Amino acid sequence: MQDKISRLNALYSYWSQCTRCPLANERKNVVFGYGHPSAPVLIIGEAPGGHEDECGNPFVGDAGLLLDQYLAMVSANPEVRAVAGDKENFNPKLLRDLLRNEYFFTNIAACHPPENRDPNLKEIEACMPRVRELIYLIDPVIILAVGKIALTSLTGKKALSITQVRGNLFDIEIPGRTVPLHYTVMALLHTSYLCRMNDFKQDTSLGAKTYEDFMRAHRILDEYNKHHFGIDIPKRGIPRGQ
Ligand code: SF4
Repeated sequence: MQDKISRLNALYSYWSQCTRCPLANERKNVVFGYGHPSAPVLIIGEAPGGHEDECGNPFVGDAGLLLDQYLAMVSANPEVRAVAGDKENFNPKLLRDLLRNEYFFTNIAACHPPENRDPNLKEIEACMPRVRELIYLIDPVIILAVGKIALTSLTGKKALSITQVRGNLFDIEIPGRTVPLHYTVMALLHTSYLCRMNDFKQDTSLGAKTYEDFMRAHRILDEYNKHHFGIDIPKRGIPRGQ
């Protein structure tokens, strides 16, 4: 683990000085990402927004909070569920701090595109070696691609419609030290899109479907842990009617 942390720190040091694409010119911070060095679930969004650029952390603001709430809803960790469920004294920072111990959060592009535009292909290509190296080092069981840019950048399939393929699994290949390595990616709707749509009430809403996607991703993790380590499948999710 110490070796992995050292290599992640070296990766951070390298990319925090990066000028490989024009996004370096106007950024305030390189939003490298953070989380557990061996996170079984790696969460990859699109690019930092203005808030992320200011603070240097990924997935902040309303979209980040919604992401954290989904993760809390499917969490097997009672502490995470308790913090998320404490409506009177809800502490979003504490929730994220707990989630950082279980997940790794990053984006396809580490620098904020001006006017909150999408990163272009050249910018994505410039930053993808960082993403691939993160995948290689963290070695997650499953990668959650949050939004179309993340999905198409990881899979290389430009024509995918995220609303049509959300919840689907994709196999991606990254270079290994000697042979290519394969990882499973799940497509998810971006939480900023879900915030804008505000469609959460019905069982058939985009919000409800996304909850099912988060559950399925974590069930894949549970099955993996049971198969490889004999760990019992934990209870997850919110009981029907709540
Ligand atoms: S977006 Fe990525 S490639 Fe471009 S300057 Fe930032 S760290 Fe470098």
